[in-house]
Amino acid sequence: MFGRAPKKSDSTKYYEVLGVTKGASQDELKKAYRKAAIKNHPDKGGDPEKFKELAQAYEVLSDPEKREIYDQYGEDALKEGMGGGSGSHNPFDIFESFFGGGAFGGGSSRGRRQKQGDDVVHSLKVSLEELYNGTSKKLSLTRNVLCPKCKGKGSKSGAPGRCYGCQGTGMKISTRRIGPGMIQQMQHICSECDGSGEVISEKDKCTQCKGNKVTQEKKVLEVHVEKGMQHGQKIVFQGEADEAPDTVTGDIVFVLQLKEHPKFKRKFDDLYVEHTLSLTEALCGFQFALNHLDGRQLLIKSNPGEVIKPGQYKAINDEGMPHHQRPFMKGRLYIHFDVEFPDSGALSLDQCRTLETILPPRPGNHLSAMELDDCEETTLHDVNIEDELRRKQQQEAYDEDEETSAPRVQCAQQ
Ligand SMILES: [Zn+2]
Ligand SMILES: [Zn+2]
Repeated sequence: MFGRAPKKSDSTKYYEVLGVTKGASQDELKKAYRKAAIKNHPDKGGDPEKFKELAQAYEVLSDPEKREIYDQYGEDALKEGMGGGSGSHNPFDIFESFFGGGAFGGGSSRGRRQKQGDDVVHSLKVSLEELYNGTSKKLSLTRNVLCPKCKGKGSKSGAPGRCYGCQGTGMKISTRRIGPGMIQQMQHICSECDGSGEVISEKDKCTQCKGNKVTQEKKVLEVHVEKGMQHGQKIVFQGEADEAPDTVTGDIVFVLQLKEHPKFKRKFDDLYVEHTLSLTEALCGFQFALNHLDGRQLLIKSNPGEVIKPGQYKAINDEGMPHHQRPFMKGRLYIHFDVEFPDSGALSLDQCRTLETILPPRPGNHLSAMELDDCEETTLHDVNIEDELRRKQQQEAYDEDEETSAPRVQCAQQ
């Protein structure tokens, strides 16, 4: 440490570059850097080397810790201590962090803050089988990419030409007299450059993208639909949407859309299936094969002596959907039973008598002759209740629409 004798020239160079004295305050440094950096910015025709030097000097002197090391031991000490030295920083980054976005009003692509590009959202139809087993789908799409020939500059020279219409700001201001002594100022997007602040001369336009900065690219994306994924779940390809200059590329997002399955319904990780039994099966037992979503045949059968009632549910464990990311865990498979009864007239009187000997006795049949005498006879009609309710609802909606206040005549049915 004591072996190193700081040379005077080592710790004055940065001050000289910025044109300030050694005792300059932070404020003075800032002002000096601002003036010099704008004057020497390469986008404004300045010398890139000089610009780099300025940024380096300012980066060190604006940091009190680095400034102290520099004052004591000079530039070399900083290079050793920082591994790679202060020169490794991008002078444009320093410039931008100093001035913020839009230092040159959009005229320079360096000084502009990056926009966030839009995400592109696609819906991806999948079958329940595909969600059960997992699948991958190859999708080809066309997207914009920065032109590889001009690297998104749009010009052969690589230098953006400043729009004269708006002086590179992308905006134009017009004034309008709206009354005595009153002037309205209006800002609108420059029509000559469409708000970009730059124009590329016909001669300088890149031959590949014709000055558009982007070209189209065909791309094939392989979408992995994992076992157990849900309807509405998103699969994201980060930064694969359209590229544009000065823009953080958005994502391509696939949203899974489950196609309705003819047999199985899904709720979370459970599956539901409807099955109709004949009356004989419901009373005396049944067995049937169910074709599962992975092609396996499940044998489903009742326990001996078991009677299934209409509307009853039964469940099979671990035959539901696989759980996403833990596909060895599965939900339940619920079976909802319906029982089909024989049609009227299917049983003869003799058969009914035989059945009565087997089935539980009737609860009724104990009306006395006197009680019967007190009853009024009725007739049971066949109805299709859904149809009738629908028709009544339509009639009501129609009546409400009618504006007449005349009393309605109700037609008695039958
Ligand atoms: Zn313009
Ligand atoms: Zn190009």
